[in-house]
Amino acid sequence: MSILKIAQLGNPVLRQETSSLSSKDIMTPYVQKLIDDMVETMREYEGVGLAAPQIHEPRQITVIESAGSVRYPNTMNIPLTVLINPVITWYSEEKADGWEGCLSIEDFRGLVPRSTSVRVSAMDRKGKSVSINATGFFAVVLQHEIDHLNGTVFIDRIKDLKTLSFFSEYERYWVKDVKEK
Ligand code: ZN
Repeated sequence: MSILKIAQLGNPVLRQETSSLSSKDIMTPYVQKLIDDMVETMREYEGVGLAAPQIHEPRQITVIESAGSVRYPNTMNIPLTVLINPVITWYSEEKADGWEGCLSIEDFRGLVPRSTSVRVSAMDRKGKSVSINATGFFAVVLQHEIDHLNGTVFIDRIKDLKTLSFFSEYERYWVKDVKEK
């Protein structure tokens, strides 16, 4: 397995259209290795999710996992989830503001409104159809990662750009306002 280089904001790959994968594509050694490398890269940089455009592959693949993340303490655990061609088929009308960061926008945090629940249809790494109902932190991570597959990053969704902060200043001035889950 290899740790991959993460594209940073400004790299056009983050804004590019992504291609979907057939179940035959998914089973190729190339894509299986790509998935393993994405998982290793996400763990190395202590992310809770990684989308393929972030590692310079404009394809509809995302990996998600959270287990005592250093970048996101006090959040729920999410088991390793690999999603191919994920589509959000339902959003709750109820939304909540939460602080987000991104491995492609290093050192920044911003307050983003997201639906508190979503339903996602996708394929797993074996090409099997899966349907996920998620709430809370998992729902937020799904929306963040699936946005990447559509060329959208979290700063596009910040309601009030005055909340955009360097991580150090977020910790200094904003973190006290963050509700612990
Ligand atoms: Zn991101």
